[in-house]
This record gives sequence, structure tokens and C-alpha cells, in this order.
Amino acid sequence: MLVVMKAQATPEEIQAVCDCIEQLGFRAHPLPGAQRTAIGITGNKGEVERGNLEALSGVAEVIRVSKAYKLASRDVKEEDTVVSFAGTDAAIGGRTLAIIAGPCSIESRDQAFAIAGQVAAAGAQFFRGGAFKPRTSPYAFQGLGLEALRIMADIRDRYGLRIVTEAIDNESLAQVAEWADVVQIGARNMQNFSLLKRAGRLRKPVLLKRGLSATLEEFLMAAEYIMSEGNYEVILCERGVRTFTDHTRNTLDLSIVPAIQRLSHLPILVDPSHATGKRDSILPMARAAIASGADGIMVEVHHQPDKALSDGPQSIYPAQFATMMDEIERIAPVVDRNLPRGIHIEAAAG
Ligand code: PEP
Ligand code: MN
Repeated sequence: MLVVMKAQATPEEIQAVCDCIEQLGFRAHPLPGAQRTAIGITGNKGEVERGNLEALSGVAEVIRVSKAYKLASRDVKEEDTVVSFAGTDAAIGGRTLAIIAGPCSIESRDQAFAIAGQVAAAGAQFFRGGAFKPRTSPYAFQGLGLEALRIMADIRDRYGLRIVTEAIDNESLAQVAEWADVVQIGARNMQNFSLLKRAGRLRKPVLLKRGLSATLEEFLMAAEYIMSEGNYEVILCERGVRTFTDHTRNTLDLSIVPAIQRLSHLPILVDPSHATGKRDSILPMARAAIASGADGIMVEVHHQPDKALSDGPQSIYPAQFATMMDEIERIAPVVDRNLPRGIHIEAAAG
């Protein structure tokens, strides 16, 4: 159920409706929009007695949300969700494109700084790097853990880049949430429901990657798990799915971009690196992703991909990344977007 407040409803009236919902034993999710606030109701098994709520002051109407995902749905929030980062002009969603770039894994301080310096120079606003790696083989490099988080925090201090890194379990979630600006939940964990719920209790944006064989509905239901716990800052990321095709690592399902945008208000990024697994495919697929209307790109960049401890073959060189940025900048106006180059940090007040 969804309570739609009148445009002129006051904060007190909104609070009174939330209190009433909670008293009925449900959970209230106020979602402010440009025109009006809507309050999602979850935790109800059946129909909520709408009479009580409709009678409250400031309420325009109470409607049923028929979709399985509710808080993620456009029925609940018409406007696109924009995730912003305090003290900076960086944002994910809305008119500006978000570019997240960096190595698959943080391998050393020198490696991470070499790459960060170059992606910052090319105008990225977000830096990615794995600290905890979900590897197919238990013998493969598993990540530097806390040391990598510390290196990335230093990169944020040095270049202003906001940090995106993955949590693979409950233990790493607590650490990642402490150090990163965006907590990534990877494809393999898209249906790790206890991890999703815990991520929902954070007050930090979560970047949720599509599962290896997840349908659109499963993907949005995973986002719903996070949102149902009160964290509404979810960023979706298409990263390719398993198909019979074997000329690429996965198959990039770009048509999910407009499909998601029709059904959900959440931002959707595209990761051409894991989607293709091939360096030569990254730029064409990044261009196509932006042309399809995606809200941005997450891409793996390495200055010495031949020596990379993970995903070298799909990592582009910094010079290719700079070309990618130039190309995206040219495509952006066609899809009514703009590409900010570099991050602007507001001077601290006082
Ligand atoms: C990653 O982004 O480092 C990663 C492991 O991606 P995915 O979860 O999409 O495989
Ligand atoms: Mn990788």
C-alpha cells in the first residue's frame, strides 16, 4: 500500500501518518518527491484498512501497489532517485553521468595510486577497487582486506574521488561501510538475503550488481530487500548474464536499462568489464550503454594489466579510459545528459 500525501502536506502531517502506520504494526517508508511525499507501507500481509489512513489530515489518497517490488517501483516514486555525496558535486542518477573507474583489486599502494591518479586526471568522480574479492578459485588472490580500504581512503583524501568497494559477507560489510562511500554487493551475492538486509540497515548508498542469471524481477526484488530495511539509496548495475554465447565472458543485456527505467526510479549503471571480459569490447559497449540511457559506467582500469592479480584481460589502459571519457562526453548531449569532468569538493564550513 501507498499513502500519497497532498502537495501542501506539512512535515507534521507526514509524521502523523507514519506514526499511525507504525501503530498498526507496519513499517512506514516516507519517500519525498518533487511534487509530493508518498509513504510506502511494508510488513502488511494483506490489505491495510485504508479508511483510517485516508481520514488523516494531509492525505490525498491510499492506493494499492500491485507489483512484487514496491519501494523500488515507480508506482511509489515517480521521479528518478539521485544519490548525492555530501560536500561534493558528485551524484549517481539524474542528468549527470556517473563514472566509476579503477582496478579490479587493490594490489598495492603504488598500483592503486598510479591508477587513481590517471582516472582522476581523465575526470572520473568515483574510484573502484576490490579489497575483499569473491574469487571462483580459493587459491586465487582474495584481496588485501583492511589494508586496501586504508589505501582507498588515502586516495579519497588525495584526489577527492569517492570510493566504491565490495562487501562479500557480514564481516566485510561492517568494515566496508566504515571506509567506503558506496558499498558494492556483487553479482554472486545478489540473492544473499541476510547480507542485503544488513546493507539495508546502513545509511550509506549500496551498489547492487545483477546476479549471474537474475531476471529483472529478481534484480528489483533484491533491491527491495535493501530498501525494505530503510536504506533507499540503491544503485543498480547491469554486468552481463550467463548465456550460451561464449565469445565474451558474459552477455551484456543492455535492454534491461530502459526496462528498469520504466519500472523503477533507481539509477542503473552498466559494467562493460565483467559483461564482456575483453579489453577490446569495453569502449564500444560503454558507448552503447550511455546511448541506451544508462546513468553511468563502472569500468576496470589498470596501468599494467598484464601483471594484474585479477581481471587483467578485461582491464583497459588509462589512455583508453581517457578516450572513453571523451567519447561519452560527446554522446551525453544526445541522450540529454552531461558528463562532469573531475570532482568538486566544497570547502568545509567554518
Ligand atoms: C567486481 O566488480 O569486482 C565484481 C566482482 O563484479 P561482479 O560481482 O559483477 O562479478
Ligand atoms: Mn573484476
